[in-house]
Amino acid sequence: MYPKLFSPGPVHVSPETFAAMAKTMIGHRGAEFEELYAALQPGLREIFGTTRPVFLSTSSAWGVMEGALRNLVRKKVLCLCCGAFSDKWLDVARKCGYESDSVQVEWGRAIDPEAVRAKLAEGGFDTVTFIHSETSTGVLNDLEGVAAVVKSFPDTMFIVDTVSSLSTVPIDMDRLGIDVMLAGVQKALALPPGLALFATSEAALERAKATPDRGYYFDFLEFSKNHQKNNTPSTPCIPLLHGLRHILEGIAAEGFQNRIDRHRETNAMIRGWGARHGFELLAPEGRRSFALNCFKNPDGFDLPTFIKALKTQHRFAINGGYGKIKGFTFRISNMGNETPETMQQLISAMDDVL
Ligand SMILES: *Cc1c(COP(=O)(O)O)cnc(C)c1O
Repeated sequence: MYPKLFSPGPVHVSPETFAAMAKTMIGHRGAEFEELYAALQPGLREIFGTTRPVFLSTSSAWGVMEGALRNLVRKKVLCLCCGAFSDKWLDVARKCGYESDSVQVEWGRAIDPEAVRAKLAEGGFDTVTFIHSETSTGVLNDLEGVAAVVKSFPDTMFIVDTVSSLSTVPIDMDRLGIDVMLAGVQKALALPPGLALFATSEAALERAKATPDRGYYFDFLEFSKNHQKNNTPSTPCIPLLHGLRHILEGIAAEGFQNRIDRHRETNAMIRGWGARHGFELLAPEGRRSFALNCFKNPDGFDLPTFIKALKTQHRFAINGGYGKIKGFTFRISNMGNETPETMQQLISAMDDVL
C-alpha cells in the first residue's frame, strides 16, 4: 500500500475523484466533449478570477511555463527568483535562448516589489515571470504589490505561476492585470498529474500574434482558436477533464470562500503543531503560503528517520525538502480535500512518531 501523500504535489487523490474519471471513453471532436469542455469554464473562471477563457493543456505546469515564454518574450525576460521553481524558470528562459536577468532573493524570502521596480527601470525587459506561492520554500509572494509594479511598465507581459496557490487563496486575474496565469491540477485541485490550466489576457494573445517561432503544442493562438469550438488543439487527457469537473462541482457545493477558509484552518493546524514542537517556518510572518508549510530542520533532529517512521508506521508521506534546501527543511501540504479531521490524523501520527 502506498502512503497517503501530505507532500506538496502531487497530493492525495480521493477515491471519488478516481471514480469520476473512470468513464467510457469519448472522442474529443464531438458534442459530448464540447459539453464537457464548456461545463468546466464557469468553475475555472471563478477560481482564476477572470472572465477570459481558461485553456486546458495536457502537460505538466512546466509545459505552459516554457510555452508562455515562447509566446510572449520578444527580447528580454526578467525572472523573479526566490526558490527552486522560480530559479528554474530563469534557467528555462536561458535554455530557450532568451536574453534574461533576475531579481534574486535568498530562498525563504519574498520578492520585494520595489526591487522589481528598480530592475524594470533599467529598461529592456518585455516580459516578467513570477511565482505566487513558491512551493519549495512555502513563501506566498506579494502578488498585488508586484502586479502593480509590472503594470506601471507598459508593454511588459506579466506571467504568473499559481501552481500551489490556485483555489487556496482568492486571486483576481483580471483586476491584477495578469497576462498569463497558470497552474497544474496535481496540487491544490487534488487531481492526478497531467493537466495544466491557463488563461491569458487579450494583450497576451496580441503579443503572441507578433511572436514568431511559437511552436505548435503550446501555441496560445491555437488554444484560443480551438476554444471557440469548446475544444483543445490536440487530444487531451479526457479522464482528467472528468475528474476536474468533479472537483469543480465539489468547489461549487462547498463554496469557494469556504474552501479558502478550510485551507487557512488546516494550514494553521500544522503551523500550531510546528510551534508546539519548536519547529520554525522558513518563510517570514505575513508571507507564508496557505497551501503548505515549510519548516527549518533544527540541528540535531533526525529528519530522515522521522519521515521514514511516519511512512512505515502510519503510512503518511511528508516531504524532506526540495532543491538545495533538501534535508535542511521539510514540507507538509494541506492542499486539496484535507479537512481538520484528516489533518488531525496526520498530527496525531507525527506526535506519536516524535
Ligand atoms: C509543482 C510546481 C511546478 C511544477 O509543476 P509540474 O506540473 O511538475 O510541471 C511549478 N511551479 C510551482 C510553484 C510548483 O509548485
